[in-house]
Amino acid sequence: MRMSVIGCGYLGAVHAAAMASIGHEVIGIDVDGRKIDALSKGEAPFFEPGLKDLLRDGIASGRLRFSTESADAEGSTVHFIGVGTPQQAGGYAADLTYVDKAVTDLLPHLRPGDVVAGKSTVPVGTAAQLAARIAPTGATLIWNPEFLREGWAVQDTIDPDRLVVGVPDGEDGQRAAQLMRDVFYPAVAKGTPFLVTDYATAELVKVAANAFLATKISFINAMAEIAEVTGADVTQLADAIGHDVRIGRRFLGAGIGFGGGCLPKDIRAFSARAEELGKGESVAFLREVDAINLRRRERAVQLVVDGLGGSVHGKRVAVLGAAFKPHSDDIRDSPALDAAVRLHGLGAAVIVTDPQAIENARRAHPQLTYVTDRDSALRGADAVLVVTEWDEYRRELDPAHVSALTDGRVVIDGRNCLDSAAWRAAGWHYYGMGRP
Ligand code: NAD
Repeated sequence: MRMSVIGCGYLGAVHAAAMASIGHEVIGIDVDGRKIDALSKGEAPFFEPGLKDLLRDGIASGRLRFSTESADAEGSTVHFIGVGTPQQAGGYAADLTYVDKAVTDLLPHLRPGDVVAGKSTVPVGTAAQLAARIAPTGATLIWNPEFLREGWAVQDTIDPDRLVVGVPDGEDGQRAAQLMRDVFYPAVAKGTPFLVTDYATAELVKVAANAFLATKISFINAMAEIAEVTGADVTQLADAIGHDVRIGRRFLGAGIGFGGGCLPKDIRAFSARAEELGKGESVAFLREVDAINLRRRERAVQLVVDGLGGSVHGKRVAVLGAAFKPHSDDIRDSPALDAAVRLHGLGAAVIVTDPQAIENARRAHPQLTYVTDRDSALRGADAVLVVTEWDEYRRELDPAHVSALTDGRVVIDGRNCLDSAAWRAAGWHYYGMGRP
């Protein structure tokens, strides 16, 4: 099938390449000329495992192309919209200007029978408004929320755990739903749940899923706060409650909290939308979820300060990790970088390292010092702060090896990912999150 993918960021570039890999003819469109140049050469403009190969194969097959021109969307049967919906500059609500502009640019190129498939995460009610704008062209709007996880985006796009399409009432909606079954035919053939809903449900499914995940993380981080004043160990607590299948262990990792381009802004946008709907109290707990999450960043910084005897001024702190999570170079609202910036603000000499995210981090926070090599970051450090659980730090950091590099023996495990007993046995002062 011929399709266009409008917006080629973390979501759209992967979506375009994945659709080409399953046999569709895809044109990826983005207003960012540099991104399009890179993608056209088969270069991934960001780090996502497996993306580069998929891009190269797609381009070599002739099924995958990229362009900065909306006119190139013409002739496609399905038009996916995956542009950004960031937090508004002056508030909590989502900024919908990119979605509005993408639709405006697409309108002249739509033909009767085309399907416009929104993938961006939007406030409930957005699809109904956009559908009214699209209706005169004879095209049909559906909403197809995306659940990919950065770091596993290729696999999640080709083989998702469920597909959700919000469609309008009537024949057009049913026809569009069938078309989406054809688009995602490999997943549909293997029996992946395919849920057809109305617009509002599809929009809400996405924000509800992220609200639930954020709440689960903040729940265990709230338990970490209680553990910290009672001497309990939150990791054992998580193991114990996680054995209950109704609770489950995943997303119960206490630590420095969640970040990235989705969870923080999505729960804030959900709160803002609920307020507009007169139902702010229904999701008032999300404000608390956000507050708990942000307190954990302060806590990690405080542990460094305490570990260094009450002041970090003039002390050298090695910060291991900049990306908001491993297997990604995404630093949007990264707790790791937030902690690094706060320590710098307190007068520490902060040396940041990360296997993939240094370039992005340097662009956003040029005041910090960056090194690509982990051991160079550790050399001469008074304290070590682990904030992104890359395997390079989680599994491969040997306390004896680190001892030979650092001046101090203070390690703060912002992700509870290190073997505390091994570090203590090697003579380190180990500080976890919510652990004695
Ligand atoms: P991103 O910032 O990486 O990408 C957005 C892209 O849209 C940019 O490349 C930008 O240049 C482009 N763009 C903006 N306006 C445009 C226009 N008028 N025409 C064409 N291109 C335009 O953002 P992202 O992480 O890919 O997220 C995109 C959307 O997908 C958001 O709504 C996000 O919430 C949602 N989402 C993201 C993920 C994820 O893991 N990144 C997962 C699920 C849903």
